[in-house]
Amino acid sequence: MSKVIENYKAVRAAFEQACVAAGRTSDEVKLLVVSKTIPVPVLMELYDSGIREFAENREPELAMKSAAMPDDIVWHFIGPVQSNKIRKVVKLAQVIHSVESLSQLERFERIAGEEGKNPQILLELNVSGEASKGGMTSAELPAAAERAAACQNLRFSGLMTMAPFEAERSELEKIFSTLKNLRDTEAVRLNIALPVLSMGMSGDFPEAIKCGATVVRIGSRIFEGIQRISK
Ligand SMILES: *Cc1c(COP(=O)(O)O)cnc(C)c1O
Repeated sequence: MSKVIENYKAVRAAFEQACVAAGRTSDEVKLLVVSKTIPVPVLMELYDSGIREFAENREPELAMKSAAMPDDIVWHFIGPVQSNKIRKVVKLAQVIHSVESLSQLERFERIAGEEGKNPQILLELNVSGEASKGGMTSAELPAAAERAAACQNLRFSGLMTMAPFEAERSELEKIFSTLKNLRDTEAVRLNIALPVLSMGMSGDFPEAIKCGATVVRIGSRIFEGIQRISK
């Protein structure tokens, strides 16, 4: 078995175990493969083993890989988006996790309409308040969520966050539970379904699953020991 398939199986097993430990079933949670910086041939091994969803955080790399790989892949975009890249991201990604402001939401809505696209979107929250993290504050969420719910071209389906890399378990659980509470509050207030909570990465996915994640975004643990694209 190749290194990447071996790693993926180990991560998948840890993921299943985290679901069981949280009293959840693994079909309530998606293990999303974060493929950034990983070369196409490695990703094709995962594709050939049945994986059909990948996440990228930079538009040029998304464009390169989506052109090089089969058409039945669902591409997720999880990175910061500059205004001049919105159109390209809208054309290529079916799920956008990282809409981080009301003004950016308006641009996505307009451009999705112009392109005849209906991407699924998540609003990204900066729950920890770290300056280095993207996303809106919880104070900015209500206005953005209200607008997102009214968008004609975007399918608003939930929230996303990134926790600090070095946080203690209790701090992580506080951040993930906060995101869940914000989601629950907005879903009730706006009377809409917001089923998606995208939270948890290689270092913290068990805590995220415990706190209600429906998507965990995992890269480094799957690609440990794999040569990355050289820049
Ligand atoms: C890179 C990245 C991940 C994956 O992180 P790993 O620690 O490599 O699993 C998840 N989410 C976002 C937004 C990322 O940029």
